[in-house]
Amino acid sequence: VTEIGKPERSVVTTCAYCGVGCTFRAEMRGEQLVRMVPYKDGKANRGHSCVKGRFAYGYANHQDRITSPMIRDSIQDPWREVSWEEALAFTSGKLKSIKAEHGATALGGITSSRCTNEETFLVQKLIRAVFGSNNTDTCARVCHSPTGYGLKTTFGTSAGTQDFDSVQHTDVALVIGANPTDGHPVFASRLKKRLREGAKLIVIDPRRIDLVRTPHVEAAHHLPLQPGTNVAVLTAMAHVIVTEGLVDEKFVQERCDTDAFAEWAAFVSEERHSPEVLEAVTRVPAEDLRGAARLYATGGNGAIYYGLGVTEHSQGSSTVMAIANLAMCTGNIGRKGVGVNPLRGQNNVQGACDMGSFPHELPGYRHLSDGATRELFEKDWGVSLDPNPGLRINNMLDAAVDGSFKAIYIQGEDILQSDPNTQHVADGLSAMECVIVHDLFLNETANYAHVFLPGSTFLEKNGTFTNAERRIQPVRKVMEPANGGYEDWQVTQLLANSLGADWNYGHPKEILAEIARLTPSFAGVSWEMLEERGSIQWPVNEKHPDGSPVMHIEGFVRGKGLFVVTDYVPTDEKTGPRFPLLLTTGRILSQYNVGAQTRRTANTVWHPEDLLEMHPVDAENRGLKDGDWTKLSSRTGETTLRVKVTDRVAPGVVYTTFHHPATQANVVTTDFSDWATNCPEYKVTAVQVTASNGP
Ligand code: SF4
Repeated sequence: VTEIGKPERSVVTTCAYCGVGCTFRAEMRGEQLVRMVPYKDGKANRGHSCVKGRFAYGYANHQDRITSPMIRDSIQDPWREVSWEEALAFTSGKLKSIKAEHGATALGGITSSRCTNEETFLVQKLIRAVFGSNNTDTCARVCHSPTGYGLKTTFGTSAGTQDFDSVQHTDVALVIGANPTDGHPVFASRLKKRLREGAKLIVIDPRRIDLVRTPHVEAAHHLPLQPGTNVAVLTAMAHVIVTEGLVDEKFVQERCDTDAFAEWAAFVSEERHSPEVLEAVTRVPAEDLRGAARLYATGGNGAIYYGLGVTEHSQGSSTVMAIANLAMCTGNIGRKGVGVNPLRGQNNVQGACDMGSFPHELPGYRHLSDGATRELFEKDWGVSLDPNPGLRINNMLDAAVDGSFKAIYIQGEDILQSDPNTQHVADGLSAMECVIVHDLFLNETANYAHVFLPGSTFLEKNGTFTNAERRIQPVRKVMEPANGGYEDWQVTQLLANSLGADWNYGHPKEILAEIARLTPSFAGVSWEMLEERGSIQWPVNEKHPDGSPVMHIEGFVRGKGLFVVTDYVPTDEKTGPRFPLLLTTGRILSQYNVGAQTRRTANTVWHPEDLLEMHPVDAENRGLKDGDWTKLSSRTGETTLRVKVTDRVAPGVVYTTFHHPATQANVVTTDFSDWATNCPEYKVTAVQVTASNGP
């Protein structure tokens, strides 16, 4: 890939980084990508982009790219490059023999939020219909699974309620546990524009993120809560709204389950939930909290935007439901400018969830126990489906250590680096007889693999991504796959057929047609329609032929909106004399997740290493100066990184990013997870920081 040269042709496609889903014109000279130009007609970005989408595509032909399949009998052996035929014969031989000896439940797989909807759909189909188990999960398990649970329970569907355009009608934006400037930059620009026009801002975050004070934008309230106390803060806000008579009674009476509301209102009204009492827990001054609650309830259209600082907690699902309760009690649902809006991390995490990646749900979030839905898929696929939910990622790893789970197919995901408690992941992978990694690079997980199947980048494939606003957008092939010509969906098809299936998809449009046939929210979607319109937001069906920019307009998908009592329960991860600080984690603008892509681009110059942010008081107590090496240790493990002394974090709180394998921040994170979904509690780890001589 080069930046030099005059383009000869261009292809419109969608960014493969974050959930904003910016559209670009990929300008080509021959088979070389000359540059990526933000597409002015892109509905999500309207001609804007950030440094990742614009410049960080060089990984596509980086020298580390693996382009030939590789196999080995044992993870101690060196890799052996082989033909696709030999790799597939080797893999299917292993899978067949494991299935014959241990049964279908010994097999499973993980779908990728970076791959297309069509590729994800095929991976879960491979696992359910060919492997014969429901042991399918996705990286949403470790990011937005509480969003799925919380919004489905309260509203009836596992997705955000608004389109990005809606922010233009917002009067009060409440941003909780998200750092849009770094994580979702193009949306952040749109939000800041609205704030500069006069909308008010409330930020709930342990860290003073950029949004709190940027040129011409200053938050009306920043609530720097103690990590792990989201539910307490939201309950205290609800207390103020209910006890000060700020509830939108008409909305609640007409749109919500009133018995559930009465129970919830009585609960939050208890004196123990007042900001003054909860101040001891949240460390947020009661007056600030009261001011924020009053502003959100009375300031006009109130929109809530949230990220992984909400979901990656032991009370992640409770926090999502507490957010939904706040929106419903103030009538902030069902029109432009309001709503509950999860800012999804990866480009297609919404799509991966929509496509049935979870062990208990078929595509379209329909539970396996529903006989009619199962029958629909069984008839279409010509197989019997196991009605019992399968294993989640962490349960697959546990079962591997126990000896009952033997083989895993991992598409586009580096679980060794991205999942919590690295040692536990390594133990689980080492115990398996067949680990198949299907990816671009020999990632950290591949150290434990027996088969490596080279993947294709977003520039080398056709398909669709679904962004954070439920917008389904085309991904178009710009160049031929470097792995011998196979898009990822084709590799999955080859693997399925090597195991005895007879799949004959010739193009992702045929897979999309199958998705539409089997998934009510996609019923009206087709490749041809996307070519014509550019994009559309699900649900798309007879009732919503033009898609659904805003959801729950006349009624909630579940009928009446459901208030759920969410009692604050402190995390089991406690500070103490050995580990007196709380670590929380996040991202930086120029890098992306575990950095597999962005570290292989020029973007690295902006952020060559992970740093540990620490308050000046804590640094002084330890004799640390800016740039000193430190040892970061927890009950789980330890790592080494440099300190950045800053008052962005409060005393007692430290913060780092997780982009670099040299740091491996997840060696210190714990096994605690969300009570409903097992989403790991990445955001709260008790740690100690001491001086170090470096790695
Ligand atoms: Fe890509 Fe997200 Fe940046 Fe847009 S904001 S260019 S989707 S990384």
